[in-house]
Amino acid sequence: MNQNRAYEIAFVGLRPGLHELEYRIEDKFFADFGPQDFSHCDTTVKLKLDKKQGFLQLHFDVDGTIDALCDRCGNPITVQLWDEFNLIVKLVDDPITMNSQEEDPDIFYIDKGESHFSIANWIFEFINLSIPLQHICKENEKGESTCNQKVLETLKKFKTNQIEINNKNIWKGLEKFKGLDDPKEATNN
Ligand SMILES: [Zn+2]
Repeated sequence: MNQNRAYEIAFVGLRPGLHELEYRIEDKFFADFGPQDFSHCDTTVKLKLDKKQGFLQLHFDVDGTIDALCDRCGNPITVQLWDEFNLIVKLVDDPITMNSQEEDPDIFYIDKGESHFSIANWIFEFINLSIPLQHICKENEKGESTCNQKVLETLKKFKTNQIEINNKNIWKGLEKFKGLDDPKEATNN
């Protein structure tokens, strides 16, 4: 409850013009959003809010780090987050209809009669969008992968075994077609 309050913008009371706000986002922020694929979030979200006549212009700057697992070997690594996002919040009479018809994902409508709105969902979304799609262990000075080699070896073996098992299964399935062709011969080519 209190947590949500911290991310509410009481825009009615704000004077027109630019306002700068800063939010420190740590793991506890994500408690309301369920389990995440990362931990040790240490991120600052800076919000520049420009209050204009009938709308608000929002600019979010995400800067920080999270700990995630390497996509390749599963070792824990620290991932740098850095991105920025723009939104426009328009004050209108019928926000539900307007939001359902708006095609621009960066434009939101809220009721003219509202006095505040929460930016918690946006912060959540923007932090997630700031996480690089692929994150793997860094290379060392020699340009070599610092991935956990033991894990990579095991994965390789596992994959080879899987392929062998799959191949066996394929031939098992094809056995009923025996008499048409001998599939085993075909693979030996
Ligand atoms: Zn790795």
